[in-house]
Amino acid sequence: VQFEVGEQSQQLRSRHDLLLMRRTALVAGAGGFIGGHLVRSLMADFDVRAVDIKPREEWYQIFAQNDNRVMDLQEDDNCFMAVEGCDLVYNLAADMGGMGFIENNKAQCMLSVLINTNLLRAALAFKIERYFYASSACVYAADKQTDSHVTALKEADAYPAMPEDGYGWEKLFSERMCRHFTEDFGLVTRVARFHNVYGPYGTWYGGREKAPAAICRKVLESVASDDYNIDIWGDGEQTRSFMYISDCIEGIHRIMTSDTIDFPVNLGSTELVSINELVDLVAAIENVELERHYDLSAPQGVRGRNSDNTLLLEHTGWEPSVSLADGLTETYEWIQSEMIGLHS
Ligand code: NAD
Repeated sequence: VQFEVGEQSQQLRSRHDLLLMRRTALVAGAGGFIGGHLVRSLMADFDVRAVDIKPREEWYQIFAQNDNRVMDLQEDDNCFMAVEGCDLVYNLAADMGGMGFIENNKAQCMLSVLINTNLLRAALAFKIERYFYASSACVYAADKQTDSHVTALKEADAYPAMPEDGYGWEKLFSERMCRHFTEDFGLVTRVARFHNVYGPYGTWYGGREKAPAAICRKVLESVASDDYNIDIWGDGEQTRSFMYISDCIEGIHRIMTSDTIDFPVNLGSTELVSINELVDLVAAIENVELERHYDLSAPQGVRGRNSDNTLLLEHTGWEPSVSLADGLTETYEWIQSEMIGLHS
């Protein structure tokens, strides 16, 4: 990871010290899906401090050589202990899940505001170089997402504000707080609005899983039971784009190291599909015919959503490119191996 050293820290350390020092990156939410992949990608270039509230045995990926800590980052003391001695902070910690979770746990989602608030305060106190915040496409105004034939969302579409209730309001508030910490105190912050990330080591059962993993699991269960009836949330015509995890990690690094992206920027795939098309792609991996049953009372979120990557491309010359068919195949095979592991 290439990284320009910020002015602030250049004043604090001599050039000589910088050449000798290996810098430390804090990943908050390191026991989660994206956090685990981010930790893995940072380890070649940084000492990594990995923090999560979950007991270590529940982390999706864990690496013994890192400074792994179990802490509740809603508590301010813990945030100060976690940030002390770090040069960079990546905040991916949040209480979250798919639509089934966020529609039914709004207060719990909003309490993640404490994590970002206290991490920002600590980042300022310890004069860290740069701060990354993982925001979401759920910040976008609901009235711009009522049609499945979507116009991709541009960053400006977040205002006038009408985000997803609970989870989306927390994200919008927290990204705004990053902005004001930059404007008022000079802390360098970077904010990415992730659009539906999926891939190996993601949640695939238990109620917090998202559509790609849920559909892979349902198809695998159909094959195992020889019963090809599957339930689909909504009428299947709602549309989304899904970003493979390797694109997400590449995007985080590009946004974090950019000297010009000082505003919340989209990080998502532009390959728009309906949920029915997503099911078709998974069914094609196994070459099975499915009998679909539509549950119209299940949570389904907005009608249509896609990412407009104009600004990301303009500032980095890059955008996510892994096709959904390729990413789903990898994800399907990983969930299959996890299911075999569970039953053996
Ligand atoms: P995840 O649930 O797998 O990871 C989040 C991690 O944060 C979990 O391991 C959780 O235990 C940890 N955490 C929660 N509360 C904590 C606390 N008080 N202290 C310490 N750790 C705490 O989710 P993910 O998919 O890896 O998402 C990472 C980030 O990206 C989140 O901020 C999420 O809102 C954002 N995001 C994800 C997606 C997606 O599609 N996965 C989309 C948009 C935004």
